[in-house]
Formats: sequence, structure tokens, C-alpha cells
Amino acid sequence: MQAVINSKSGVLRDSYGRAIRDLRVSLTDRCNFRCFYCLPHGEPPIAPKEQMLSYEEIEYACEIFVSLGIEKIRLTGGEPMMRRDIETIILKLAKLKPNLHDLALTTNGYFLPERALSLKEAGLDRITISLDSLKRDVFKRMTGVDVLDKVLAGIAAAKEAGLEPIKINAVIVRGHNEDEVADFAAFAREHDVKMRFIEFMPLDSGHEWSRADVVSGKEIRERISERFPLVRVEVARGSDTSSRYRFADGAPGEIGIIAPVTEPFCGACSRIRLTADGQIRTCLFSTVEHSLRDVIRSGVTRGEVIDYIESVILKKEPRHFINDPGFVAPSRTMSFIGG
Ligand code: SAM
Repeated sequence: MQAVINSKSGVLRDSYGRAIRDLRVSLTDRCNFRCFYCLPHGEPPIAPKEQMLSYEEIEYACEIFVSLGIEKIRLTGGEPMMRRDIETIILKLAKLKPNLHDLALTTNGYFLPERALSLKEAGLDRITISLDSLKRDVFKRMTGVDVLDKVLAGIAAAKEAGLEPIKINAVIVRGHNEDEVADFAAFAREHDVKMRFIEFMPLDSGHEWSRADVVSGKEIRERISERFPLVRVEVARGSDTSSRYRFADGAPGEIGIIAPVTEPFCGACSRIRLTADGQIRTCLFSTVEHSLRDVIRSGVTRGEVIDYIESVILKKEPRHFINDPGFVAPSRTMSFIGG
């Protein structure tokens, strides 16, 4: 397929002037973990396969997005490695480089001990692995599965395969793992990884989120600084969702704090999402979706698909409304949206 630059500017821009550079593509709604803050009660009945985008459709959509200025694609889910033969889609998307600068994956790490190398060989650049506790019992309580050792082996395998820099995501929830924040920082130093702490967001399928359970970015920073003084990494924040820190003593590793609840960064948002069933979501907290799948399947021309995408981007919300009194959580939750 021949990439063409968007007739207007080569950059997707929303109606607030934000350039859209990052696309998150969910490969499946299915997940083998039962994290209490995400999918505590398991999956609803699996949607018919015909509703899901095929790899060919994902490739077609991504090629168009990259021609419109998308520079980063992150594959996610659900658990994206539950999608059989994920290497096939990575191989297809890797062909979009160098216009595509960065092809990344977010995973729970379960399948990595056996598969990290094949992901790298297929063309994956980087990986983010979720790890909510370094203690076996807490890990099991938070994720619903007793596989901490396997995830740690997955992190080691990703490192060995060269999927670096490795990011580790931990959702910090009051009463569960806030006492481990400094231990995670020690883990980042020891293993030279980028440890990212995420505030608990109201995107859990159990709808049990409460503000009292949110451990703020400020508290996370303070807990780490007590043991390991931090220095802010001054970057043009651009589309970076995390505030980043290095260790003052020069140790390896990095800290990132993602605080969408207490320190929203919507003004810098450069993201859109494509769900496994082909819906464009312009915000994690969108209450409406736009069916790119139906547009593609209607047999319209490539130019008409581009017009549709551009019109959807103009509907991107100015900000999320978590902190507004009338906030309504989206009906589809994190594992369906693609975190
Ligand atoms: N299964 C993969 C994984 O575990 O990383 C990818 C999908 S998961 C939905 C992506 C990220 O979203 C994970 O790091 C997860 O911890 C985070 N997440 C899920 N629910 C969340 C919530 N309610 N608040 C904050 N982060 C959440």
C-alpha cells in the first residue's frame, strides 16, 4: 500500500489545535488476568468474531493513520498477546516505519518468557509491562492470578530480547500497594527500567472506583523521595502523559508519574484509540464512539475513509470530566477501550 500524506497538512489536528500523533490499537477485549481495578468479574460473553477487526483491516486503518501523521502505535487490549499470532500484525505494522517512529506493546507479561524474542524479531520496538506488586500475595489479590514469578521472568525475557527501554506500569490503589511505591523505585534502579505509577481511574468494570482509593501523584512522589531523592527530567512535555524523574544519585532507571485524576494533562493529549471492534475513541473517557469499522466495510474509497477520520478527530473532547460533579464513566471500561 502506498502511503499518501493528508491533503491538508500531513498532521491530524483536533478543533483545539492539538496534533494527534499517538494511536492505541486494542487487539482484543479478552484478558487472562482479573485485575480488580479493571476487569474484576471477568469477561462478558465474547463478541462474534465478525465484529472484530481483522489483521488486514487493522493494517489498512493504521497505514492510513500513519499517512495522516500518526507517529506512535501502541498495541494493547484486553491482553493483546491473547490474540493468536500477534507477531503477524507486528510484522505488517513494522512495514510502516520509518514514517511510523515507534511500535510498542502493553502487556501483562504472562506470555513473554516464551515470546519476547519473536516479538522483537517481528519488528516491535518497545514494551510496557504491567506489574502491580512485588509481593506474591498482593499481586495475586490485585490481579486475580498467582503468576508473579512468570511476569518477572517476562520482564527479564523482554530485556534480553532488547525490547528496551522497558516501562513497567503499576496502578497504585489505596490499601493495596501504596506501601510498595519506594520498593518499585528500588526495582527500577536495580533493573534499569522506567517505572511508571498510574493513578487509579474510574474505568473499572466493577464500577467500584472511589476517590478515596486514589493515591495521588504527589503522594507517590513524596513516598519515593523519602528513600530516593528525585530530580525532575525537564522534557518538552509534548504528548508525554507522565511527569518524569531521574534519581538524584545518578542510579539507573527512571520514574514516571501518570496522574490523570489529580493532575490532568488533557491540554497535551495527542492520543486517539481504536477498539478491537473498530471504534475510534477520541478520549479514554469518551461516552461516544465512531465506527471506523463500518465505514471501512461499507466499501468507500480511501479518500472517504480519510475524510471520516478527520471529521472524527475534530470531535475530540477538550478534556476529561472526572473531576466535574456530573461526571459519567464511559459504558465501556478499560479492557474494552484499550488502556
Ligand atoms: N493487558 C495489558 C496489561 O495488563 O498491561 C494491556 C491492557 S491494560 C487495560 C493497560 C493498562 O491499563 C495497564 O497498565 C493497567 O494497569 C491499566 N489500567 C487498567 N484499568 C485501570 C484503571 N481503572 N485505572 C488506571 N489504570 C488502569
